Amino acid sequence: MTGGAAAAAPAEGPFWWRRDVRPGVTVAFTGAAAGNLAFHVGGDDDGVRRHRAALAAAAGVPSFHYMSQVHGRETAWAGDGPAPTADALLSHGEPLAVMVADCVPVVLVGEFDDGRPALAAVHAGRPGLVAEVVPAAVTRLREAGAHRLEAWLGPSICGQCYEVPAQMRDEVAAAVPGTAATTGWGTPALDLPAGVRDQLARAGVTAHRDAEACTYEHEEFFSHRRAPGAGRIAGLVWSHA
Ligand SMILES: [Zn+2]
Repeated sequence: MTGGAAAAAPAEGPFWWRRDVRPGVTVAFTGAAAGNLAFHVGGDDDGVRRHRAALAAAAGVPSFHYMSQVHGRETAWAGDGPAPTADALLSHGEPLAVMVADCVPVVLVGEFDDGRPALAAVHAGRPGLVAEVVPAAVTRLREAGAHRLEAWLGPSICGQCYEVPAQMRDEVAAAVPGTAATTGWGTPALDLPAGVRDQLARAGVTAHRDAEACTYEHEEFFSHRRAPGAGRIAGLVWSHA
């Protein structure tokens, strides 16, 4: 495993990890303790509404903006409809959420010239990694005037657990350097967070690893590989300036 001991991070309310990364800007990641946060899995819509409301209350915001994630590379701004079809949601400080269960949740934080925060929540699974959704989010924020961008990666399946066919490993590794890996049991694997970090480095964005942990190894997270349909955790970012 490459993600460190999941139990090392202090729990705080519904947040598995939470940090004020800049004045007025907080990044957080949930664990399974916060409950399932996705309407498209589990079949308990009332539970999802309850979990999302508790999360917003704990963050001190009216609500988080979510998106309809499709493993693509489309970006959308918060407010582009109630749940725009996209895999990168951007804002000028409005609260953002990305749902995952093994894919990499990536949060981007920067600032605009007028002092407002430049925020993004990005869904980087294997297809999104190959489609370069993280660089697309960085580009769209910069085109809007954002600078001083930094990234935080949250819990995802690690390179020693994400087993894939050899041909798939080779195809992804050819597109995204640094992703070829081997499982703890000696079979071909992909290291998605390593690929995200490589893309961020190429874009000139520092990637912080403090909140990385393996979702597959630790039952305090939801993992699609370990328990399909059990739920989704979230990567979150919001401004409270
Ligand atoms: Zn692992």
